[in-house]
Amino acid sequence: MRTTQFFLSTLKEAPSDAEIVSHRLMLRAGLIKRLAGGIYTWMPAGLRILRKVENIVREEMNRAGAIELLMPAVVPAELWQETGRWEKYGPELLRFKDRHQRDFVIGPTHEEVITDVVRKDVKSYRQLPIHLYQVQSKFRDEIRPRFGVMRGREFLMKDGYSFHTSFDDLQREYRNMHDTYSRIFTRLGLKFRAVAADTGSIGGTGSHEFHVLADSGEDAIAFSPDSDYAANVELAEALAPDTPRGAAGEAMQKVATPDRVRCEDVADFLKQPLTKTVKAIAVMHDDDFVLLLLRGDHNLNEIKVGKLPGLDPFRFATDAEVERFLGCKPGYIGPVGVDAAKVRVIADRTVAAMDNFVCGANTEGFHLTGVNWGRNLPEPSLVADIRNVVAGDPSPDGKGALELCRGIEVGHIFQLRTKYSAAMGCTFLDETGKEQVMEMGCYGIGVSRIVGAAIEQGHDARGIVFPAAIAPFEACIVPMGYAKSEAVKAAADKLYGELRAAGIDVVLDDRNERPGVMFADMELIGVPHRIVVGERGLAEGKLEYKGRTETEAQMIAAGDMLAFLK
Ligand code: ATP
Ligand code: MG
Ligand code: MG
Ligand code: MG
Repeated sequence: MRTTQFFLSTLKEAPSDAEIVSHRLMLRAGLIKRLAGGIYTWMPAGLRILRKVENIVREEMNRAGAIELLMPAVVPAELWQETGRWEKYGPELLRFKDRHQRDFVIGPTHEEVITDVVRKDVKSYRQLPIHLYQVQSKFRDEIRPRFGVMRGREFLMKDGYSFHTSFDDLQREYRNMHDTYSRIFTRLGLKFRAVAADTGSIGGTGSHEFHVLADSGEDAIAFSPDSDYAANVELAEALAPDTPRGAAGEAMQKVATPDRVRCEDVADFLKQPLTKTVKAIAVMHDDDFVLLLLRGDHNLNEIKVGKLPGLDPFRFATDAEVERFLGCKPGYIGPVGVDAAKVRVIADRTVAAMDNFVCGANTEGFHLTGVNWGRNLPEPSLVADIRNVVAGDPSPDGKGALELCRGIEVGHIFQLRTKYSAAMGCTFLDETGKEQVMEMGCYGIGVSRIVGAAIEQGHDARGIVFPAAIAPFEACIVPMGYAKSEAVKAAADKLYGELRAAGIDVVLDDRNERPGVMFADMELIGVPHRIVVGERGLAEGKLEYKGRTETEAQMIAAGDMLAFLK
């Protein structure tokens, strides 16, 4: 690529509304342009990065045995009605009507569509297992789109779905995907961690998230440096599971009595002040208390609560009200395993608290099940607060003390089991000719979010520092006087041809710009290797090389440059 035949659109200043560094740098580097809130055009340089991420994901998915297809973005409402998500998904689901007044959605995720494909085409155990995936634009009408492509409304996702004859086989594929995701994020050159996670509005049982580690991340992760334990703090059990039941009961009695949930009690229980406004709901299960402060995301939140004006805070609610309130079966939001039929809402009160549910108790003991500081920019003090809650507590697996860090969720894998296949009649005939419901898994990667996350991890005062695997160009050639010096032009063209022939993704900056301008642009967009071709060096048969993060340039014999880069 020659810059004169390309379209670089770098800016001197970042627009002032960009809150975090990756968003600012993506705008300044001209990788994206905003069209509307959470909706961006990928400019040519940005698209090169996005495609590199996408291709690594695709190569590893193919290698893992998954098969690519492409589903429509526009999905008829009937499929969403079949699984009940038409009602449950909430306002994040973009709905519209066609000219015949038929309802449609723009898919935020594609469980319904893929299940429809498979139930129509797969009939026999002989056709299973199968894993189908796509790389496709999703639309979620996020309540607060922000941070550029990190929380967009339209964004690119790789979503894969696997179908199995047995739970064992689903678990095999789940491990396969766990390994595949680890390979993908390693190849992308990112520092990441796989963590145990909540299943959110997708549902199902087991689930892991993959987080790129960065201080600006929206999630808090609890991990033990001494073992494999790592969990999204939403799910981290911070109190020892073997806390005696009697003491648990007492502690919960302090927090929630059958007629009230007091903010002070919650704060006291959490050993910290409550800062943000969310709904609290206390739920009673048999004789054990389960206190849930509802999450601020996953559509189980304020909106649902707001739709329940008739719910008297101090009376027992019906099971149907509980379910409507939660947007799902009550047992499904926490790891508590609550039996919906035995659940009673005993109090509902807006408390000043954090975004997500924080604690629960069950018959096994007393668990702090989650703290998520929600969707705001992390402040150091908040991180310190979280530390007070869980850091230093024993790990749930009994090995070492918990530590905390922040992460950006870039991937999420779920064991869906039969949630969708049962609802949609996705069955097969087993060896004995008996009809059985398929076991399902689903596996998502936020392809476009990864670009932002990589920049959060890699940047300096001069701009983006991309891992070589996803940089818009691997190397740049910057000639000093391309238009003026025959020798410089000839050497730059020759090197450009050689590097291209060797398969290096190289850009030749043949603009008639001052060296400072060309250097700044190439640094801003994050090109890892820079080669300067100048008359003085050429007189000695040398070229100047500088790595993106190096402070000093070095002179290298022209003939050795290719070997040096390789
Ligand atoms: P989040 O917790 O950040 O809202 P999610 O849990 O709702 O994400 P999933 O349903 O697990 O998202 O979707 C799979 C992946 O898609 C996520 O792991 C994330 O990388 C990506 N993703 C989700 N929402 C967005 C978004 N609004 N913008 C960009 N990427 C997103
Ligand atoms: Mg979400
Ligand atoms: Mg999430
Ligand atoms: Mg998720």
